[in-house]
Amino acid sequence: MAGKPQTVLVVEDEASIASFVAAYLKNAGYTVRTTASGTEALKLVASEKPALVVLDLMLPDIDGVEVCKQIRQNSDLPVLMLTARDEDVDKIIGLEVGADDYMTKPFNPRELVARVRAILRRAAPERANRESAVIQHGDLSIDAGRREARVGEQEIQLAPKEFDLLWELLDHRGLVLTRDQLLERVWGYTFAGDTRTVDVHVRQLRRKLGDASPIVTVWGVGYKVSPAREPAKA
Ligand code: CA
Repeated sequence: MAGKPQTVLVVEDEASIASFVAAYLKNAGYTVRTTASGTEALKLVASEKPALVVLDLMLPDIDGVEVCKQIRQNSDLPVLMLTARDEDVDKIIGLEVGADDYMTKPFNPRELVARVRAILRRAAPERANRESAVIQHGDLSIDAGRREARVGEQEIQLAPKEFDLLWELLDHRGLVLTRDQLLERVWGYTFAGDTRTVDVHVRQLRRKLGDASPIVTVWGVGYKVSPAREPAKA
């Protein structure tokens, strides 16, 4: 990584976890700031301009969900959420909260570093390449430059990874993509990771797109996009 090291903000009130996460990230070449407080985290986001936030869900003052929501009101700053509970995953990575990814404790710190790297690699250049690219598929249209998805005239609010996943599937129409391929292309993992995050995002996309969802499950393999329906003729 050339140039100035990127700053990662680690928000975690369990000191032992905060310090080993910080150590691994420093070792990987990042500048690390840590805080145990959600309120302090929001101040540091404004003052330190980190490139990414590792955010624990359970904090003593304002919790990780609220911190992430407040970050999302102003920016696309990538957020990797740490959680001890699996059941909140849909909400955490959904639009309501908008984290980019999550890891359930206990986790392997090397995997955390790999995910941080992947998210940061994905955050900038790829999107610039797609400016002005629009994919139309039946009633569904997605605009990469504006990061907008529409069904007919209606805009559908998608979280960042939901958008990227839908783009990736539509961009490979006619092909089946495995969960590992989707993890690699959308989340940037270069190893076989926890593929549940793919399923959770697909579920969210289907819920939001309703009947307009073109995503088909290929059992035992992965996902693909169904052919576009012909527009209804009068
Ligand atoms: Ca905690």
